Amino acid sequence: MYLSTEHIKFLHTVGKNCTDEEIILLVGTSKNKVTHLHRVPNISKRNKDRYIPDPEIMFNVLSSTKLINENADLYFIGVYHTHPNGYSLPSEIDIKNANYDCFYLIYGQKDCKLQAYKQDRKNNVIFEKESIHEYEESY
Ligand SMILES: [Zn+2]
Repeated sequence: MYLSTEHIKFLHTVGKNCTDEEIILLVGTSKNKVTHLHRVPNISKRNKDRYIPDPEIMFNVLSSTKLINENADLYFIGVYHTHPNGYSLPSEIDIKNANYDCFYLIYGQKDCKLQAYKQDRKNNVIFEKESIHEYEESY
């Protein structure tokens, strides 16, 4: 998957500085290339170690994508969340609660790493490691 240099920097900054699990939705103009980030409030009562995106805002973002709106121009690419005091590895709950076939990005404060995982249940792909390619944004 492809992320711009600026977006990678931003995801690292949010990850480094968060005290609760932060959630950002990744949207793009093609299936693998992220061009928009949408920060979504975490409504979990245990938001230091769980993430539940605010459903209304989640729905609004998804409505701008082909995932639920065939007339949309954008693709829903994935979900980023952070592990304050944790590693950039998916927890059992992350895997259990991953409802979408998309990319899951995790930032871990313990290893200061941003890692991507791919889920595609139709093809039996569950949280398989995915590389993040960097692209330069051209204005
Ligand atoms: Zn997690």
